Amino acid sequence: MKKEINLKTNPAIYNVVHKSGYTINTSVTIRNGSKFRHSTIDAIDKNSFIFKKLNIAEFYIEISEAQKEVEINKIDFFESKEFLNIVNKYGLLTATHKFASELPIIDTTTESIYANFAESFPENFSGDFNEEKLYEKLIYSELLAEWKVLLDPKRSVGAKWSVNEFFLNKHFNRNINFIDTQKNEIRIFSTCLGGAIALYKYSKNNPELKSCKFCSSNFVDSSKGNIQKFCSETCRAKEYRRKKLDYEKNNLTDEHGENFNFSSMKYVDIIKKEIRAECKKCRRIGLYQKEKFSELPECMYCSKK
Ligand SMILES: [Zn+2]
Ligand SMILES: [Zn+2]
Repeated sequence: MKKEINLKTNPAIYNVVHKSGYTINTSVTIRNGSKFRHSTIDAIDKNSFIFKKLNIAEFYIEISEAQKEVEINKIDFFESKEFLNIVNKYGLLTATHKFASELPIIDTTTESIYANFAESFPENFSGDFNEEKLYEKLIYSELLAEWKVLLDPKRSVGAKWSVNEFFLNKHFNRNINFIDTQKNEIRIFSTCLGGAIALYKYSKNNPELKSCKFCSSNFVDSSKGNIQKFCSETCRAKEYRRKKLDYEKNNLTDEHGENFNFSSMKYVDIIKKEIRAECKKCRRIGLYQKEKFSELPECMYCSKK
């Protein structure tokens, strides 16, 4: 039988984050009588940095949350302190691109050597991962436009796709793919955060940020047609139980609410075909078999007297 080949992206990538944080510098040039503003994001101290393992989905959620928050205050997101906080935490989009794209990432072995190197940084320099090359190739200043092309919500409208295509493809080209014949996988190695987020965002068709119906935490809806309502299967199950329990409590209250209070009922009681009821006279909570209770709805304590 033919084995299926899967396309596999890595949900975690390593980015260089400068400990000093970043600042935005804007300069204006005049060309043919017109003013051109251009902004760069620069590491305050380019010499002190760490390799940080990042989760792409978390990054996407965090930047989407920050955008929503800033939107309310009608400030340009890319000029807000919330934006700079994100850069300070996750680093530049292109920081590792030059360095990583020149490494011979042609198989899973080199991919895992890179991961080991990033994890043990600043120890363990060897072979292609030499110190000189790293410092020379690391990017510590990039155009703010890099972020806008990828992450400005006003730009991600379908109709504008073609206008941005050239710039978007620049981000996509920051990914390297190779085949792992043992696992039958086509793997994608992102050389930088920009490549990884481009792949994440567009392979999931600009996923929306939603609030879970059960726990209200934010999640990315990557379903076809954006119909996901819960952040996880666990929350979906919990919501189902909550609904079922409410339904049961309401029915019991309609019938026996005069003498009993059912607020202490648990989902497990339904499964066990039992009823947990507090007597309104003696205030004691009793556990009853459902069948018996509906035949004779009497408090087990009061009836003994
Ligand atoms: Zn949830
Ligand atoms: Zn009672």
